[in-house]
Amino acid sequence: MARRSREREPEASGGSAAREPKVCASCGRRIEWRAKWADSWAEVKYCSDACRRRRVTATDLRLEQVILELLAAKPNSKAVDTMDAARAVASSAPAGGSRALGATASGSDPTAAQLSEPARRAARRLVARGLVDMVQNGRVVDPSTARGPIQVRRRSH
Ligand SMILES: [Zn+2]
Repeated sequence: MARRSREREPEASGGSAAREPKVCASCGRRIEWRAKWADSWAEVKYCSDACRRRRVTATDLRLEQVILELLAAKPNSKAVDTMDAARAVASSAPAGGSRALGATASGSDPTAAQLSEPARRAARRLVARGLVDMVQNGRVVDPSTARGPIQVRRRSH
């Protein structure tokens, strides 16, 4: 992998900005420039076909909103577990979603477990927008690679 110097910045048209990494609009993970995108890097929005198909659903947006609401309800710099957002959204699912026992994966009323990963994606997108930091044990971590339970806290400027 030849590492090129970055001397040829495009004129200030903003369109074809060099090869700076981007963030997937769906999962919030970093997308590194690849040669196959040489001619279309400016248009790349998703890291994978799966993310392009998924895009951002209403539930995904709801998870973002709930994370921000949970943070707003906390004193400054307090962290919120993404699973709390998953549980909140699961329990606020429309009628029929509150069966505690015998609930099946019907798809229309997702469980907190099913929302675990979507909640992480929501957290990553919020990091990408500069609204929050992702933390584990009080330390800021890289949202693209963090494993295990994660929390978010408001980013201090
Ligand atoms: Zn993605």
